[in-house]
Amino acid sequence: MARPYIVHYGELGLKGRNRISFERQLVNNIRRALEDLEDQGQMKVQRLPSYLLVKPPSEVPEAKVEARLQQIPGIAYFAPIVTTPLDIAEITSAAVEMAREIITPETTFRIQATRGNKTFPITSPEVGREVGGAVQEATGAPVNLRHPDVTLSIQIYDDQAYLFARRIRGLGGLPVGSSGRVLALFSGGIDSPVAAHLLMKRGCLMDFVHFHLLRGESEIRESKIAAMARKVLVPHRAPGRLHMLSAAPFEAAMAGLDSRVATVVFRRFIMRAAESLANRRRIPALVTGESVGQVASQTLKNINLISEATQLPILRPLIGMDKEEIIEIAQSIGTYELSIKPYQDPCSLHARHPATWARHSAVEEVETRIDVDALLEETLSQHLLTIRITF
Ligand code: ATP
Ligand code: MG
Repeated sequence: MARPYIVHYGELGLKGRNRISFERQLVNNIRRALEDLEDQGQMKVQRLPSYLLVKPPSEVPEAKVEARLQQIPGIAYFAPIVTTPLDIAEITSAAVEMAREIITPETTFRIQATRGNKTFPITSPEVGREVGGAVQEATGAPVNLRHPDVTLSIQIYDDQAYLFARRIRGLGGLPVGSSGRVLALFSGGIDSPVAAHLLMKRGCLMDFVHFHLLRGESEIRESKIAAMARKVLVPHRAPGRLHMLSAAPFEAAMAGLDSRVATVVFRRFIMRAAESLANRRRIPALVTGESVGQVASQTLKNINLISEATQLPILRPLIGMDKEEIIEIAQSIGTYELSIKPYQDPCSLHARHPATWARHSAVEEVETRIDVDALLEETLSQHLLTIRITF
């Protein structure tokens, strides 16, 4: 049975005049993320001056609510609470009652009191001492201020006090929707879903573009790519579009040409296509899963050649990360299993030994040979299927 939760945001507190709109965004996001648990009754999400309260219908299992809240960007931490009026006797007796359930003479504890409401006549250290004394007497447990087994928190606000003993760490970051929309270049691999996730954690809404070698609409719609895009969006229930472009015309045009620069030429082609799709939707930035030196196309030289293909900024949240770190995040967001499923990626057709230091002139020569502008036009007008992902 779920108790109410107090929800604290971290960085949002720094947002000055924009703070209210950030808070509203977070409230809406929490509502949306918990919506489908509502068949048991209404989920209440309330905005107070420096925190939020989430009140789930009492029949909803707390593990479910907590798993959802842990995935929502913008939450620093949250905790299931007991609420009392602003009265030290009431606070003390609620604390003692709570302590009796979880503190024994063998567990050490401390009281951590904060006073958001300075008109409350008793200072935080005094609350700590008073409640701590009463808890000690009731349980026989010793106080340990530095490394306690249990920290009992008391937060005093305008017209209520909140008590909790279990604090759950949130994802951090900013509420999705507070930073605009970006377009992720999405492959079937491990990295790009992690890159998209990290930008969502910074408050971005997400569209995706993928170049494939699939055939037929149902194969495209049922591909693992569509499942992966959905997986990235689902914790936020934030709608997005997945633009599926066929790489077949590109592959056909490239047949027989200098394959050592093929990977770079393909990446530049992807950038151009992404820019065009982004402009249609007024999306101001692209996202990739590149990381310096990870593969041949990701040397600094090749990254430069790839960046030159677009005017839009390319956000690369994984740029300094190791594969191990990336895999860890992929596992935590549930995309890893899909990423490692076999899939024919267009670039798997390219050279076995791609140039790590492609020459500009060689790249441009190939691009002229394949008539890259016409190819782009053809691909975007005849080989695009856009899938709307909704919740
Ligand atoms: P990933 O694990 O994301 O596939 P990777 O380690 O395989 O990355 P590359 O294949 O060099 O690295 O791809 C670098 C980036 O280029 C990807 O992270 C992705 O953003 C983009 N990209 C690669 N292939 C495609 C594709 N078929 N369609 C769209 N974008 C792609
Ligand atoms: Mg890849």
